[in-house]
Amino acid sequence: MMPQRVICHGCKHLLYEGAELRPPDEIIHQYEGKCPNCGKKLSLLPQDVEVKPARK
Ligand SMILES: [Zn+2]
Repeated sequence: MMPQRVICHGCKHLLYEGAELRPPDEIIHQYEGKCPNCGKKLSLLPQDVEVKPARK
């Protein structure tokens, strides 16, 4: 299984990492719409969160 990563585009803070694929809006909702690290407002726009498979 390929883990999923969701990263804040503002500060590269790792918002979610796990083997279970989750929709970005669910993850954003979990953080109440903003990055817990830099406070940047998250949106569903791909430039605000980065979702990609975590692989080396
Ligand atoms: Zn951030």
